[in-house]
Amino acid sequence: MVALTFDADMTSYMEGQLDRGEVDSYANPRLIAELRRLKVPATIFMTGLWIKRYPDVAAGLAADPLFELADHSYDHKAFSTPCYGLGRTDDMRGSLRRTEALLDRLAPAHPRFFRFPGGCFDKAALRAVAAEGLTPIQWDVVGGDAFATSKDVIVRQTLGGVRGGSIVVLHLGGGKPSGLTDDALPAIVKGIRERGLRPVTLSTLLGHR
Ligand SMILES: [Zn+2]
Repeated sequence: MVALTFDADMTSYMEGQLDRGEVDSYANPRLIAELRRLKVPATIFMTGLWIKRYPDVAAGLAADPLFELADHSYDHKAFSTPCYGLGRTDDMRGSLRRTEALLDRLAPAHPRFFRFPGGCFDKAALRAVAAEGLTPIQWDVVGGDAFATSKDVIVRQTLGGVRGGSIVVLHLGGGKPSGLTDDALPAIVKGIRERGLRPVTLSTLLGHR
């Protein structure tokens, strides 16, 4: 089994880009359509700001049994720094609680998984996550779609690292350059299936359900 996970990032800076018309969208409906067409279960780590920006897309994902939703913080601020230039949140538990409240409304049975923005954490961050009853989830395979300039790079990087039990991190954001994820997906899924591996949700991979 392999878990494909997709992060739906949204910072207040990204919101500003959308408001100023500098970026068309940070949602990628083509990627969602491709996952459905290929019947690929996926786990979507959502920021609260992304849910609020795209309530209809979020509700569509929540209503589809192919997908499960989980927590990626409220505004994608870092839980420890330095973290790829992300500012540090001054309220870790508030960030978790606000996002969980949004997820509870969308998908009451969602698994209580959390992914740190940028994957950055320290002991205090782990304590905050545990105190909210959440399980932190990292990854072993970076698809590289946040920075890739060609779909082939994403395909090569993903398939180069993937094996039984892998957790792959990709992104649900549209715009550039992560809008290439949808183009890369069919070859990624084909490669995974050719190796006798099966894409499943994170809950299934980890045996939570
Ligand atoms: Zn992220």
